[in-house]
This record gives sequence, structure tokens and C-alpha cells, in this order.
Amino acid sequence: MRKFVIFFDPGHGISSELKQKFSPVIPKDMHVPAEFMSGGRFREGRFNREIAKELVDILKSTYNLDARLTVTEDVTDISLTERVRRVNRVCNQIGAGNVIMISIHANAFGYGNEWTSANGWEIYTTPGKTNSDILATYIFNRAKKNFTENRRFRTDYSDGDPDKEAKFAVIKGTKCPSCLTENFFYTNKDDLSFISSEVGRQEIIRTHIEGIIDYLRSRKIID
Ligand SMILES: [Zn+2]
Repeated sequence: MRKFVIFFDPGHGISSELKQKFSPVIPKDMHVPAEFMSGGRFREGRFNREIAKELVDILKSTYNLDARLTVTEDVTDISLTERVRRVNRVCNQIGAGNVIMISIHANAFGYGNEWTSANGWEIYTTPGKTNSDILATYIFNRAKKNFTENRRFRTDYSDGDPDKEAKFAVIKGTKCPSCLTENFFYTNKDDLSFISSEVGRQEIIRTHIEGIIDYLRSRKIID
């Protein structure tokens, strides 16, 4: 098997708990696992890290692939420039065609002071057609199959594929195919219940794993 590296970028940091990357205070009847929580609120930086770490573990243990985190520091919110630099260093070593990066996030609407109606799952690439769009479409198609319970998808088909396009620094700066997933809204009560549940969490993980494996098969990286 040729050298191939899969990066997961856990968005933000534990320290960004201070920067409104949190849900409103969780009501007592709503179960959210402790690892996602601090101070009675869901914290995006914690969630992103938990998901990204599990994705790395599965690709390593089940598929024997070289999967890595862009950020292993738990507390600090490492700058986007530094995250990009870490990915591009590997791109420069083994070729950008032998690397992919997926940035893991959950979405928010407003300032975390009230529950809002915005909801759904989405995946982003930068504008223009590249291998990033192929990767994103594989992940999207798995999301469509995996997410049950009438979950909502936020799409943009204007350019012929389902991913939305934005010049986010972390996907714009990396030389390899890159995309960013927004795994539902933690400022929406129903979405938050879903991503806090074991079912929701497993569907998010399975979607990323299966989409990546589809992409690697299509590029003949694995059989
Ligand atoms: Zn985020």
C-alpha cells in the first residue's frame, strides 16, 4: 500500500469555551454525556475532539491506515495557520495527492444564550471543482444513507454537487483535498439530543469512515 495520510482537524479548542462555542444551559431532563459538557453547557471544542479521536482510532485499528489529528493539544485553540502548516508539511513530504483532511465541527446559530430553530448537517469545500468535491460527495452520500429520524441536510446544488462552498481558512490553505463537516446544531435542542445520543454519535462516525473509505477505493489507494 502506498503512503497515504488522513488528517482529522478537531475544530477550535477547549479554551474556546470562552468564545461562545457553547450551547445554552442544558435542561435537567436532557441527557448529554459528560465528555461534551462543561459548566452545564455542551462545548463544541470537546465534541469535535471526541469525534476526531474516535475517527483516528477506527481508521488505524480497523483499516490499518495512517490517520492523524492536526491538533493533539487539548486545551489551546491552535491557530488555523498552524493547523494548515501541519497538514501542508506532510503534503510537501509525500505529495498532496497522498493526503486528505477533514475538519470536524458542530454548528451554532446565535450566541449560545437561547435555543434556536436552525438545524441540519452540512459539508463544505472551497469554491471550484477539485478532488475535495469528490471526497465531500462520498461523505455526503453516506450521510444521506446513515442519518435516520428525518435529519435535515443543508445543501447547495447550484454547482452540481451537494456540498456548500466557503473560503474557510483551514480548507482553503491546505494543499490536499479537504472538507469541513458541520455535524448538526448544538444551539438546536433536537439536533443536540441527536448528536449527544449514542446512535447519533455512531451515525456521525460511520458517515465519515465510510465516505473516506469510498474515496480511497475510488482513488485505488485501498482495495
Ligand atoms: Zn466550529
